[in-house]
Amino acid sequence: MSLFDRFEDIVKLNSFAALPPAFYTRLPTTPLNQPVLMHVDQEAAALLGLSLQALKNQAFLDVVSGTSELPGGQTLAAVYSGHQFGHWAGQLGDGRAHLLGELQGPESNWELQLKGAGMTPYSRMGDGRAVLRSSVREYLASQAMHGLGIPTTRALSLVSAKNPVMRETVETAAVVARMAPSFIRFGSFQHWAAQQKPDYLRLLSDFVIERYYPECQAASNPYVSLLEAVVKRTAELMAGWQVVGFCHGVMNTDNMSILGLTLDYGPYGFMDGFDAGHICNHTDTNGRYAWHAQPAVAHWNLYQLANSLHTIVPDADALRAALDHFEPTFLNAMQQRMMQKLGLSDWQDGDETLVDDLWSLMQANHADFTLTFRQLAYAPALPDLEQTGVTQQQIETDLGNTVNPNLKPFIDLFIDRAAAELWLERYRQRIARNPSDSNFNRIQTMLAANPLYVLRNHLAQQAIEAAQRGDPTEIDNLMKVLRNPFVAVPGMEIYAALPPAWASHIEVSCSS
Ligand code: AMP
Ligand code: MG
Repeated sequence: MSLFDRFEDIVKLNSFAALPPAFYTRLPTTPLNQPVLMHVDQEAAALLGLSLQALKNQAFLDVVSGTSELPGGQTLAAVYSGHQFGHWAGQLGDGRAHLLGELQGPESNWELQLKGAGMTPYSRMGDGRAVLRSSVREYLASQAMHGLGIPTTRALSLVSAKNPVMRETVETAAVVARMAPSFIRFGSFQHWAAQQKPDYLRLLSDFVIERYYPECQAASNPYVSLLEAVVKRTAELMAGWQVVGFCHGVMNTDNMSILGLTLDYGPYGFMDGFDAGHICNHTDTNGRYAWHAQPAVAHWNLYQLANSLHTIVPDADALRAALDHFEPTFLNAMQQRMMQKLGLSDWQDGDETLVDDLWSLMQANHADFTLTFRQLAYAPALPDLEQTGVTQQQIETDLGNTVNPNLKPFIDLFIDRAAAELWLERYRQRIARNPSDSNFNRIQTMLAANPLYVLRNHLAQQAIEAAQRGDPTEIDNLMKVLRNPFVAVPGMEIYAALPPAWASHIEVSCSS
């Protein structure tokens, strides 16, 4: 794979800019005051075709800070609409995002977008900026989700600057350069339905189908087929979120990717102690976007997308039938993932109750989401393994891991140890009925499905505070462990530990 030292050498496409001017406003970014490249993700850069050398050039910083245009790009802000917290909000749009263009990477094409590079016609009351705090959070979350294997927009770089930005207090500005095959949202479709512009809606749908869902072209109605494909991807995405305890926080229709990617990281959170009703967004007082509500909200959002498509698809029954794929797809995806998480090599009678009872046990004990699943791998097997002289240490070493002495065993994660023991005994009996599967295989499956590292709020907070002092070390450490969160990294034990007491006091709001 040949990588290039300059943006100039990479082919640009500007496909979105080729849509009619009504879809966007062409405008330049607003440069920052004394931008500094705080972090860059080499892996993401390689996807664009950029070499290590390219990232060291001033020209790179100039582009990702919004100081100069992307050579060959056509900078623009896109318009969209949407439902916010269940209410129709009308026209929104890229209020602080600039699409720089599309790069032909070695494997596929990527749109490159700056978040926080100045005002646009869609900024409404906003200043077009993003603060360092929220930019660090978006940068790290993009890596965390990618590492977990959950579809997401990617982050290329994090630039900090001196510009003061007024939020609850005065903070400083930053810009994240992010990448995705497309940033088109459900709200992009809703926009043209609301504007009563069916031709534009058709154009947008054709654009999305041709480029991202070509398999829909052969269907009797490609638009219905598109909806069905988006329904399935979104249902899969929800299962991906649920099983790692991820809460998006602002699942408005304008934050829903038409490609089924996790998009627009704001007041998101990975749960520490399990609470099905966990609300990560301090502003979401009614818990509309609580953890347990996410799949139903996604379905509601898809319903809004279907409603928009009804403008160009008169057959409402066909749209309804496409929406009906949500529940079975989601439930099946959940079942597959729970099987892996629990190391069950098939799905037997009684498994559903066993899984439900684990959730209840975790809920009653506020047990740590991540470590409960991670440590479950060893919980039932250790006595047997010890008899045969095999230790957790040996298994971890065989898997290329080191054992983290700070990690509590499964049973110690529950206050009610007796209840946990009872459940564990049922689980022991169940895995004994795994057909032809060794404990070693089961543990291996479980460790590959249950991350050791997630981007806990307190870890993000520590990285933010260091970044605010100009120190990117914590960001760098987190980027390393989150790249492959299933494998223990020697020396990084602290990033897998239970949260400190102060973590429960962190409040994350929409302010960003
Ligand atoms: P969000 O919920 O963060 O995705 O944002 C909702 C809408 O508000 C989007 O259209 C954003 O572009 C816009 N927005 C959020 N913050 C700002 C800001 N500081 N300046 C301009 N627009 C903003
Ligand atoms: Mg948004």
